[in-house]
Amino acid sequence: MKCAICGGEALIEGMCLECYLKRDRLSWVGDVIEIVKCPKCGRYFVNKVWKDLDFDSALFESIVSRIRVHPQFEVEDVEVEQLNSGRCVFRLIGNVEGREVVDELSVEVRVKTRTCERCAMISGGYYEAVVQIRADDRRVEDFELEKVKDVIERILEKERDNVKAFVSKVVERREGIDFYFGDKNVGRKVSREIAKVLGGKIIESRKLHTRKDGRDVYRYTFAVRLPCYRVGDVVREGERICVVVGVGKGVDVTNYASVNLKEPKVVKRREDLEKGVVVNYDDYVVEIASERGLVKAVKSFDVDLGEEVYYFEYGSRCYVIPSRFYEGG
Ligand SMILES: [Zn+2]
Ligand SMILES: [Zn+2]
Repeated sequence: MKCAICGGEALIEGMCLECYLKRDRLSWVGDVIEIVKCPKCGRYFVNKVWKDLDFDSALFESIVSRIRVHPQFEVEDVEVEQLNSGRCVFRLIGNVEGREVVDELSVEVRVKTRTCERCAMISGGYYEAVVQIRADDRRVEDFELEKVKDVIERILEKERDNVKAFVSKVVERREGIDFYFGDKNVGRKVSREIAKVLGGKIIESRKLHTRKDGRDVYRYTFAVRLPCYRVGDVVREGERICVVVGVGKGVDVTNYASVNLKEPKVVKRREDLEKGVVVNYDDYVVEIASERGLVKAVKSFDVDLGEEVYYFEYGSRCYVIPSRFYEGG
């Protein structure tokens, strides 16, 4: 087929590429591209979704999503050049029926700000659930709070496409700390994960908050009650005296047996244990030199002369715990 204009070889719409390009384009986009940014969280609204992107990627995605290309134009590569004038040149590199061609589009870029739905909800104090962190018979410790914050961060990261996955308020109280969650399911997930990581029980309750479209809307409370004991504390589980080695796990200080902790009562806090050095031992007794003088404890663990150990008195006896239970944390 021949070009209707110049009589050369026709490639596109009955014309050769040169004659076609004098009359029409290979790609189209509007004159203006509007980039919408949330001033609070910095995300961009691209393809009807708020995304965590840098400006260049947001611009690129916004243009690509609006561009139309002639069906015979096979695009292989795209280049973007931002000009100081607030315009941007978009270069499409490809071929038409095997003939290499570059099509350039020039677009005006306008940045607009609009608060996203999530930030609007956060600043309005929206919440569906409160996760309360409390400890049984003691204060919530700093390391536990750190773990709680890690769990929240991890779960929010996984839920990043969920518009209600946020914490709108944190309230520190004498007895613990409260986190207000935008999504009750995220609150529930967080409370379960905390109980898994730190032990403890969850008490779930709900209160009627309002009615919406004829439905009752509830607000939930997930009260996480951390166990009375912590790793390193000495507890009594039934008749056994155990040092806590993990969530729900103890070691009997009289015979070194593993014990599952079900209803443990704290006998000695780890910070109240005393420290000393093994100066002598036989099969039954360990002698420990300490600030209190020479102490005799039940020998249950293997110890070495000169080894630093912890000990505590309970009932009429003294027990020893090797310091390896307190290493690395
Ligand atoms: Zn022609
Ligand atoms: Zn935002």
